[in-house]
Amino acid sequence: MDTAKYQKLLNDKKEDLIKRVENIQNDKTRKEGPLDPDFEEQANMLQNNEVIDHLDEIERKELEDVVYALNRIENNTFGICAECGNQISEKRLDALPTTTICLNCLDQ
Ligand SMILES: [Zn+2]
Repeated sequence: MDTAKYQKLLNDKKEDLIKRVENIQNDKTRKEGPLDPDFEEQANMLQNNEVIDHLDEIERKELEDVVYALNRIENNTFGICAECGNQISEKRLDALPTTTICLNCLDQ
């Protein structure tokens, strides 16, 4: 299988995610500045931070998946189902290059 296109795709995604996580971090630092005397304002700030924390988690998980997928390309195990050991279809990999499970195993 031609893993070069997935490698490129995943590397692009990795860079994009790193940038996004960095931006979120910067955003967080800015929002966690000195306490505002206005309570309502503080409550709003907390809510925003919760949303950002959650986003951060999702992006980090995604980044982890991308890094794992890149490792699998290096180890020549990319595109092989972790459950049954069969080749995952290219159609599925095109849609979701970080997947480790083939469609058959997903259905079970
Ligand atoms: Zn499988």
